[in-house]
Amino acid sequence: MNLRIGHGYDIHRIVPGRPLVLGGVKFDTDYGLDGHSDADALTHAACDALLGAAGLPDIGHFFPNTDPAYKGIDSQALLRRVTEELRARGWGIVNLDLTVIAEKPRLFIHIDAMKAALARSTGLPAAAIGLKATTNEGVDDIGRGLAIAAHAVALIEKT
Ligand code: MG
Repeated sequence: MNLRIGHGYDIHRIVPGRPLVLGGVKFDTDYGLDGHSDADALTHAACDALLGAAGLPDIGHFFPNTDPAYKGIDSQALLRRVTEELRARGWGIVNLDLTVIAEKPRLFIHIDAMKAALARSTGLPAAAIGLKATTNEGVDDIGRGLAIAAHAVALIEKT
């Protein structure tokens, strides 16, 4: 068996006065996600799906939120490092399928920009990255605009 599948999930609280970064794209909002890094929940979910597929520990193991080295870090740097960790163990990425759940802002028109950023970080063609943006239809704290969550599935192959 040369294929492995992995799943990732992340959620971050929305807070005022932080930059909002999702999928490597910075949004022009007066609110952002709380977190030690740039708090890019979508990219963190992608990292965890890739690490999970390779049977590796999660993103918190590789990039502890107690380590000042990762304070405010661009999560694309984390995704590049995850891609390198997999490559070093003989794993190549086949595809990523991602869903981001946000009541605000409207993400639809930024899908291609996020896919392009994630493609740069992983070395994947944009066509190998699925990315859906949905709302939570007003339900629960995501629906009330208090948090943004993301799910990710990754397929990797032994190279
Ligand atoms: Mg996170």
